[in-house]
Amino acid sequence: MNRFTFQNTTRIHFGEGQIAAITKDIPADARVLVTYGGGSIKKNGVYDQVADALKDHTWAEFSGIEPNPKYDTLMKAVTMIQEEGYDYLLAVGGGSVVDGTKFIAAAAEFAGDPWDICQFGATIERALPLGCVLTLPATGSESNTGGVITRGTDKLPFGSELVRPIFAVLDPAVTLTLPERQVANGVIDAFVHIMEQYMTYPVNAKVQDRFAEGLLMTLMEEGPKALNDPKDLDVRANIMWAATLALNGLIGAGVPQDWATHMIGHELTALHGIDHARTLSIVFPAVLKFQRDSKKDKLLQFGERAFGITEGDDNTRIDQTIARIVDFFHEMGVPAALSEADLTADAIDPLVDNLKAHKMGKLGEHRAIGFDESRAILELAV
Ligand code: NAP
Ligand code: FE
Repeated sequence: MNRFTFQNTTRIHFGEGQIAAITKDIPADARVLVTYGGGSIKKNGVYDQVADALKDHTWAEFSGIEPNPKYDTLMKAVTMIQEEGYDYLLAVGGGSVVDGTKFIAAAAEFAGDPWDICQFGATIERALPLGCVLTLPATGSESNTGGVITRGTDKLPFGSELVRPIFAVLDPAVTLTLPERQVANGVIDAFVHIMEQYMTYPVNAKVQDRFAEGLLMTLMEEGPKALNDPKDLDVRANIMWAATLALNGLIGAGVPQDWATHMIGHELTALHGIDHARTLSIVFPAVLKFQRDSKKDKLLQFGERAFGITEGDDNTRIDQTIARIVDFFHEMGVPAALSEADLTADAIDPLVDNLKAHKMGKLGEHRAIGFDESRAILELAV
């Protein structure tokens, strides 16, 4: 196991009816700005529950944070904060709303041009405090320090301990209104988050390995159930908690991390508008194929532990393991190749150009995936 420092300070309120718990978490004298997306929370009762919990607080709202949150939209909230003086943010929605609100929290207190935070990795020195009510289990953003913001054809990550939510409400009941597509997306995003931290090379981190395998197997079991029996609250609860644990720092502590699938996937969203999770299901199998030698030990371990694959030589077992992962993606109804998203090899050059523009030339757990290697991965993904 490698050296690590681990701290996750987000207070989790898990379970049905927990939105009411935010009343005590937000200081009574705070001026709260509630942020949300396109209005799903008004249809499913989440907005009303939040309004009820905030009935003794001073608060206003900012709506319209879109999927893959846009810089220009978020800066409108920053202007509102500066003009009207809010000092606490409450994000109510999926990963886009939480990520966007993290950016708002940092941008509202940033001395220079806030886009520098994403474009140049400018350090966030201060941020407004924020909490969240999560409505879509997927990203882990509810208790981590990262976010991803889009401006034009740039979709760029940023991060700071200062934007980690102070609290997060995880009420699985509010996820029952998710469209099937978003349920599937959430399971796949969480699955690939775990894989980015697990499917690398062994560092004798048995605890993280077993945690990761437990979460992966939970998602492979519960994901299809959520599609087939969309009213099962226990299934939703397991998915929701798994998605948070997938990217809250725990399974990533002291282990190598990959993230090539995410960085290549971001360019697919930026240039073709493909849902985040679907970019991952397209790219990840190709990353495994391309890295089959350097990831060999973990591929064999996962194949055996998750699927019971023990017969045949290493290559056969690795092929079978990748095929089983692709089967799972198909079972969840997401594409596992560019062609399954109506893209051809013509898409590759512009994607690699975007990676170059974003200086994404040292990806993967060995920092060995340069632009040529990303091209080769995309060719395998056709
Ligand atoms: P999302 O973009 O937040 O939401 C997708 C759609 O689901 C929206 O139309 C939203 O509607 C709807 N929705 C959300 N909750 C709902 C509910 N309970 N019932 C009905 N509809 C609901 O999806 P996401 O997958 O959570 O977030 C994706 C973003 O997160 C991407 O930008 C991705 O790059 C980023 N990401 C961040 C991290 C991280 O660590 N921070 C990790 C991975 C990905 P409304 O607009 O009405 O809310
Ligand atoms: Fe993701």
